[in-house]
Amino acid sequence: MEAAQFKTLAQTMGVDLTGVAPVERFAIFSPQANPLSIQPQTRSVIVLGFSIPRGALQGMETGTAGYTLGMGIPTTVAIDTTYMLCRHLEDAGWEATPVFRQSGDMRNQGVRVNPDKPEPNVILEFDFAAHAAGLGEIGRGKWLLTPQFGPRQMLTIILTDAEMEPDAPFSGRVCDDCGACAEACPAHALDAGALHHAPLCEGRAAWYPLHVESCRVCQTGTTKLMYSTGSEPFRLGAACGRACVAHLEDSGLLTRKFHTPFRPSEGGHEQ
Ligand code: SF4
Ligand code: SF4
Repeated sequence: MEAAQFKTLAQTMGVDLTGVAPVERFAIFSPQANPLSIQPQTRSVIVLGFSIPRGALQGMETGTAGYTLGMGIPTTVAIDTTYMLCRHLEDAGWEATPVFRQSGDMRNQGVRVNPDKPEPNVILEFDFAAHAAGLGEIGRGKWLLTPQFGPRQMLTIILTDAEMEPDAPFSGRVCDDCGACAEACPAHALDAGALHHAPLCEGRAAWYPLHVESCRVCQTGTTKLMYSTGSEPFRLGAACGRACVAHLEDSGLLTRKFHTPFRPSEGGHEQ
């Protein structure tokens, strides 16, 4: 299947962002994090992005409700749409495996099928994949930023043996190293005075070191993963994530525009 044809189909089904990376870009990963452990015939890694509505952040932002983001995360739609796209690929004769995000601390659990094979679960690095597929960069706040939505998207992945025309790895910048995410954290869990580096398929990502223990007890709007007490919570709704949304929008750095600023009291950038 042609990549352009697949992207058009995905768009008509409600996917906001679609990128394709050849599986060779994942060669740096061990079998515990490598797509080839899940589907050995994989040729293309397709990364799908579903925008998280900005309005779902307002309950935490205004203090009118403690936790509202859950209703804004398009989990069901993302899972259903990813599954339906897999069916379209298989209807065309290509194998397809849907993969959904899990915490890395769930690796190395379960029983190996063979002593020289990785233990399940094999967990992919989604933000790395999104960069490799051209969708965005990992910002200083240690989350994926896209030019369209900043940190406001949910990702899913499809592994397929279809060899699709790849997108170039993302080479632009969204994060401007403003430090707003670190400044907004009441626990000082992000250290804007240092950088942690991690390899990408091309170049390296750099983010502020994160004291994740503080995030696990954060009361500002994190979304915690059930059954995974060791995981890093989803931080979009927390003070750090919302500060990033406000900064990127006020600075005019995102292509998605709104009629009103995210933080009217700060007189944000009128669109
Ligand atoms: S989730 Fe909470 S503790 Fe962690 S960086 Fe964000 S604001 Fe700070
Ligand atoms: S708040 Fe600023 S430094 Fe932090 S991730 Fe967003 S743009 Fe980058």
